[in-house]
Amino acid sequence: MVGLTLACALGQQQFKIAVVEAFQPADINPGDDYELRVSAISKSSQQILQNVNAWQGMLNRRACAYQHMQVWDATGDGNIHFDAADLGIDSLGHIIENKVIQFSLLEQCLQLPNVDWLCPQQVIDISFSGNQQKITLNNANIITAKLLVGADGANSKVRETAGIDINQSPYEQKAVVAVVKSNLHHKDTAWQRFLPSGPLAFLPLGDGSCSIVWSAENQRADELLEMDEATFINELQDAFENTLGKIEKVSQRAAFPLVRRHANEYVKTGLALIGDAAHTIHPLAGQGVNLGLLDAAALAETILQARVQGKDIASLTTLRKYERWRRADNSLMMYSMSGFKSLFSNEQTELSFVRNAGLNLVNGLGPVKNKLMRHALGLEGDLPEMAKSTGW
Ligand SMILES: Cc1cc2nc3c(=O)[nH]c(=O)nc-3n(C[C@H](O)[C@H](O)[C@H](O)COP(=O)(O)OP(=O)(O)OC[C@H]3O[C@@H](n4cnc5c(N)ncnc54)[C@H](O)[C@@H]3O)c2cc1C
Repeated sequence: MVGLTLACALGQQQFKIAVVEAFQPADINPGDDYELRVSAISKSSQQILQNVNAWQGMLNRRACAYQHMQVWDATGDGNIHFDAADLGIDSLGHIIENKVIQFSLLEQCLQLPNVDWLCPQQVIDISFSGNQQKITLNNANIITAKLLVGADGANSKVRETAGIDINQSPYEQKAVVAVVKSNLHHKDTAWQRFLPSGPLAFLPLGDGSCSIVWSAENQRADELLEMDEATFINELQDAFENTLGKIEKVSQRAAFPLVRRHANEYVKTGLALIGDAAHTIHPLAGQGVNLGLLDAAALAETILQARVQGKDIASLTTLRKYERWRRADNSLMMYSMSGFKSLFSNEQTELSFVRNAGLNLVNGLGPVKNKLMRHALGLEGDLPEMAKSTGW
């Protein structure tokens, strides 16, 4: 998702680009079951995806806008409600299947004559030499590039081969995902209940069903994955306080281990890391890919500026601008998520009291609440031009 976004952004500016991808993305057909992997796409990400002309493709396939967000704590009466109308915008974001995002981006990339799509191909080796990086593919072909961008996810081969270390710590949780159908409509709301064992989110989908992300300590997550369907439905209803009534149907389940990772460097001469290759965070605020898309937009802008100023697009001086720009923002989000996770996983009575009182307090303070939300939605902050709103 992140790599294709950068390829589209730079491809539109006549850079010559090769995208190497191991797996051929497939389109969805109307009536297909919903994919298990979805993303809550923020307003700034929407803007970026609009600027690379991929947004309409997503809307034409499947994307569910949501106007409300409801967050509450299982250990008290604390709750907070966000409403798009309070911010004067049409929605707080969209829930979109990752497959839809990837395919709609690919569709745009394939229309750009200066972008080569090398797929299915795998990067198996890289040799870095200042001005020319040599990339060996699994079919033994070698491509050379002035700038190599690692957008190859959490276990980035590019990052590893470049010898860039990561600072990492497991959250000791896994996210269990599934698609569920309840007898009550989701009311165009993204729901999240904080349980002591981890947050449980119900994210709205177009046909009234929800994609759930249930983060739980490893052992509990394994149990949730392995239990039979009827038991799982009972546990889920309890954990969600029957908020959307009876759960009538549940898809297959999958689980993803959650690890906080941050690359010690995002750049070297001739190399940049973006998206999950540079950082991974807890999905509790649905920010991972949104941060990655901001990386892509910031790197595109940095490279374009360098070209306009007649500077080397792959020099360390140029690329460091991108790193300084994005590292601060990503770190802030990363540490906020770790803080939230610890705060909400703690069952101490005093903390529970403070937490619930805090949620209710912020909920009652319109301007503070709106400020928080505007930042999370990417409506403000040090945004790349591509991410800035032209009006929703
Ligand atoms: C349960 C869960 C829920 C989430 N929910 C949200 C959410 O609501 N909102 C949000 O913003 N984020 C969310 N995230 C995070 C989000 O999924 C990631 O941040 C996002 O997938 C990262 O995108 P990416 O393009 O950087 O990397 P990836 O999606 O990992 O893509 C990397 C690509 O590189 C390819 N690749 C890897 N190695 C090679 C190689 N050697 N050669 C060729 N190709 C290669 C892979 O095939 C893949 O296509 C969630 C994460 C989890 C686990």
